Amino acid sequence: MNLNDAVLFHKDAMIEALQQNLRIPSVQGPAESGAPYGADVRRSLDHALATAERLGFKTTNVDGHMGWCEYGEGEEMVAVLGHLDVVPAGDGWTVDPYGAEIIDGKIWGRGTTDDKGPSIAALYALAAVRDSGLPIKRRIRVLLGCNEETGSADVKYYLAQGGEIPVMGFTPDGEYPVINGEKGIINATFSKSYKQTGPVKLVQIQGGSAPNVVPSYACARFECDEELAVRMSQLYAPSMKFSLIPGGFKAEAFGVSAHGSTPGLGENAIGRLVIALDNLPLEGELADAIHFLAQKLGMETDGASAGIYLHDDVSGELSLNWGTIEGNGETFSLKINYRYPVTYSYEDCGPAFNEAFRQAGFTLDSEVHKAKLYIPADSQLVSSLMKVYTEQTGLEGSPKSIGGGTYAKAISNLLAFGPIFPGDEIREHKPDEYISIESLVKNAQIIAAAMYELAK
Ligand SMILES: [Zn+2]
Repeated sequence: MNLNDAVLFHKDAMIEALQQNLRIPSVQGPAESGAPYGADVRRSLDHALATAERLGFKTTNVDGHMGWCEYGEGEEMVAVLGHLDVVPAGDGWTVDPYGAEIIDGKIWGRGTTDDKGPSIAALYALAAVRDSGLPIKRRIRVLLGCNEETGSADVKYYLAQGGEIPVMGFTPDGEYPVINGEKGIINATFSKSYKQTGPVKLVQIQGGSAPNVVPSYACARFECDEELAVRMSQLYAPSMKFSLIPGGFKAEAFGVSAHGSTPGLGENAIGRLVIALDNLPLEGELADAIHFLAQKLGMETDGASAGIYLHDDVSGELSLNWGTIEGNGETFSLKINYRYPVTYSYEDCGPAFNEAFRQAGFTLDSEVHKAKLYIPADSQLVSSLMKVYTEQTGLEGSPKSIGGGTYAKAISNLLAFGPIFPGDEIREHKPDEYISIESLVKNAQIIAAAMYELAK
């Protein structure tokens, strides 16, 4: 039996198993014994492992953090990594987010594409590889994670318990054709304390909501004498508003929001505010700090003035997003999210960036680094997956690099492959998430073909 037919044999059972799992609202909840991510996530894992057992596979439950099943023999193992946890349903659904209804050839519900559909498909793909009788030289493991959406502690636990690392593999938790590059991501928090002198005093400054979102609004309130306040409130700058408030004046900046991985698509309101403040009659340490931020960051999105500009042909420029600022008359802190190109490393930008802030009197309060992922286009993994993709869909394509991070970063030797096809509507993390039955089946066939290609 050829592999695609072997998948079709399981079509109805696969749809039913997916519907059952979708009815479990596996959003992270309070930890319980054996259920580190909550009872519902554990139920979803139990259901998926029971499905694997019904298909004839031995399963392992890694203390409720992850589960896996495996087929085949051999020294080496290749893996497909999916996850069963979902983000909360949120508002705006026109169907029951946990109803798993089939309407117009589509299965509707939270997790259909992200990532229960592909995860359940991987179980049936593994069964199809076995049923086909095709010879393989490596073991194939389906890993089912339970904490992708809120930190990937599941994979950390698996690895800490000595969980085997695949020689290669993929996670169907991104898009087709293949994402072979993911920029390194650094989240840095800096703070600065200051004594204020001079006629204008900062009372409060605030902007942005999260490091990975381009802020669309920022504002600062100042104290000063009335005559000066009146003058300041008459200032003008594009996309800025100055106004009188009791005891002083207020400056507001407006920007355009965008995802922090693509800051060039937005306009940074905090940067705009700070550039405007740099022209006010501030004095002393605060003036120096504002001047530094206006000069080194401003509204720039590539780190050039901060001295960390990097670029490569695979993934483009370093991107930088100044996500938040929060402060009062004595201190402020800011969060910056920047992402370096895939052929570089932390050492090429992190130390220089931190040193520039240190010299300007800032303190680095926290720094979290997620290393880049890069598997070259001519590697066996990428060329095998591209071949499978083209054979199964008839589409050509090229591997691509992104600024975001996928589940592939959680384990070495993996990259993101599927489940979203070019031109598909993106519904993950949004209301009315769905997967068409056609796409579910095609994904299962692609996963099966890729499993075989990597394990043969
Ligand atoms: Zn996901």
